Amino acid sequence: MADIIQLLPDSVANQIAAGEVVQRPASVVKELVENAIDAGATDIHITIVDAGRTLIQIVDNGKGMSETDARMALERHATSKIRTAKDIFAIRSMGFRGEALASIVAVAHVELKTKRKEDEIGTHIIIKGSEVESQEPISFQTGTLFQVKNLFYNIPARRKFLRTNETELKYILAEIYHAALGHPHIAFTVYKDGDLHAKYPATHLKQRIITIFGKRFEKSLLSIESESSICKIHGFIGTPDTAKKHNFNQYLFVNNRFFKQRSFQNAVIRAYGNLILPQEYPPFFIFIEVDPAHIDVNIHPTKTEIKFVDEYSINSIIESAVKYSLGKSNIVPSLDFTDDTDYNDMFSTPQSEIKAPSIRVNTNYNPFASHKADVKNWEQLFEDFENQPDPDIPEQTFASALHLESSEPHVPEATCLQIQKKYIVTQGKTGLLLIDIKRAHSRILFEQFLQQIQTSTHASQKTLLPIQIEVTHSECVILKQILPELQSLGFDIEEFGSQSFVIQGCPSSLETTHVESIIRDFIYDFNENHTNITEKMYESVAKSMAKTSALYRNVHMQQDEMQVFISQLFQCESHSLSADGKVAVVLLEYDEIFKKFN
Ligand code: ADP
Ligand code: MG
Repeated sequence: MADIIQLLPDSVANQIAAGEVVQRPASVVKELVENAIDAGATDIHITIVDAGRTLIQIVDNGKGMSETDARMALERHATSKIRTAKDIFAIRSMGFRGEALASIVAVAHVELKTKRKEDEIGTHIIIKGSEVESQEPISFQTGTLFQVKNLFYNIPARRKFLRTNETELKYILAEIYHAALGHPHIAFTVYKDGDLHAKYPATHLKQRIITIFGKRFEKSLLSIESESSICKIHGFIGTPDTAKKHNFNQYLFVNNRFFKQRSFQNAVIRAYGNLILPQEYPPFFIFIEVDPAHIDVNIHPTKTEIKFVDEYSINSIIESAVKYSLGKSNIVPSLDFTDDTDYNDMFSTPQSEIKAPSIRVNTNYNPFASHKADVKNWEQLFEDFENQPDPDIPEQTFASALHLESSEPHVPEATCLQIQKKYIVTQGKTGLLLIDIKRAHSRILFEQFLQQIQTSTHASQKTLLPIQIEVTHSECVILKQILPELQSLGFDIEEFGSQSFVIQGCPSSLETTHVESIIRDFIYDFNENHTNITEKMYESVAKSMAKTSALYRNVHMQQDEMQVFISQLFQCESHSLSADGKVAVVLLEYDEIFKKFN
């Protein structure tokens, strides 16, 4: 039998590689913008037509390419960024695999114009179907222009697979945010379908954040900083009141490259402790500088996960830096800081105005030492229980905190026990019921509100003062879409300048103080679920109202209050879940308990 193995032609190999590198228009934007950054550009213009399906154009004022390099750049494994395998461990550029351009020309019509400073004349290359259609000298400014047209023209399945223009645009904007946040000193201009969409002048990080995410960040960013032999950290975190139920505004960069890392995100959240609610996410923009040899850069081109040699230590360093920043701004002491995590001051010397005493400081804390698991042993658990401080809100009765109706029937049978002010334990028919108070409370409120909203007419009430909401570009796109529905529900909301809206009235069933957060939740929900907003509107309003009115703190409950609470909970349609679908009631069956003692 004849041999059957053959080498794939380059054009086929490139198309296969393209499947990995170029997944959607946003991938093209990412690769081309990264190349422009690597080329030392200080000014990058991005043009998007039809969410990138028709045209993606990137123009930079970077160093450009020679005629030969321009041709070479489009070949697979063609890169100027590494020469030997050793170079991989010292990589500081955004790209180095030499795959992007070859992949893009395999799945789109590409036009390239480029000129180096030292050259009189530039190069103009047109490529169709992976073949160079023409190459000519051209008069051009120093820098590079890439035009990518008719993306996936030769892969109809991929083209069909693309989502709506709004969604693809969202992905594109996300890539632009990553690049723009990672490189505030580079100016970016974005055009969309013929209009100027955004302009980010060269600046410093804080101003770049505010330009992108709106003025609401002006007064709510705390800087963080830390330096050690393992890494340098700088950036900004949001004050606790800016925490949201989504994690859109959490950005991590390593050597100015955006990446995602659950454990680092969690480290930040741990540092906030109970300054934020369990389902809330604080915004942050954290930059980590490490020796490139200490991260595994040989990652998949489109993946944003990165492996760190010192992940564990960096984790602690981030947590400490965030805690220090919160402590320094006196946010921590003013609130209930009962968390037992150690606070350390090893990253900078506290200044005199810092009120440290109300935070427990452990100067022996060493983030580089190996960590013990954060599990308390039994004795300690018991100790914690005994040492429970007095109720946080002594004057306020639990019933008033919960807005409970005093006419509700009591449940006289079962005795209830409140544990750590967080849970209620009581006897059910088939087992012990463990109830998470906050979650159960959000369920009760949700169903109450839902009923109220459904039965009330959508009369509008004026807000005390006009409320102005600043939004990002992508939020703006969404808000405009849902504006008519919001208005029909009783929100008096209008566009007010670019990326800004003003609200002068809201449905009368709503507390006016919650309006802004409810609108933001709508944007988030619509963005996430792409569902018919009218169908979801009642539910979302009720959910948001329940969330914002639900208990923030743990409160002490009297026996009869617990019984009223339980009776209200069990009148709910879905009493075992919180308003946002988390487990609120756990049944520990008597059978299971018996078994445990066997
Ligand atoms: P990589 O970025 O991994 O090296 P690419 O395929 O993205 O691979 O680019 C190949 C090469 O083309 C780069 O190494 C660089 O030398 C050159 N290049 C690409 N884009 C630009 C640009 N905008 N300006 C200057 N040179 C560029
Ligand atoms: Mg590249």
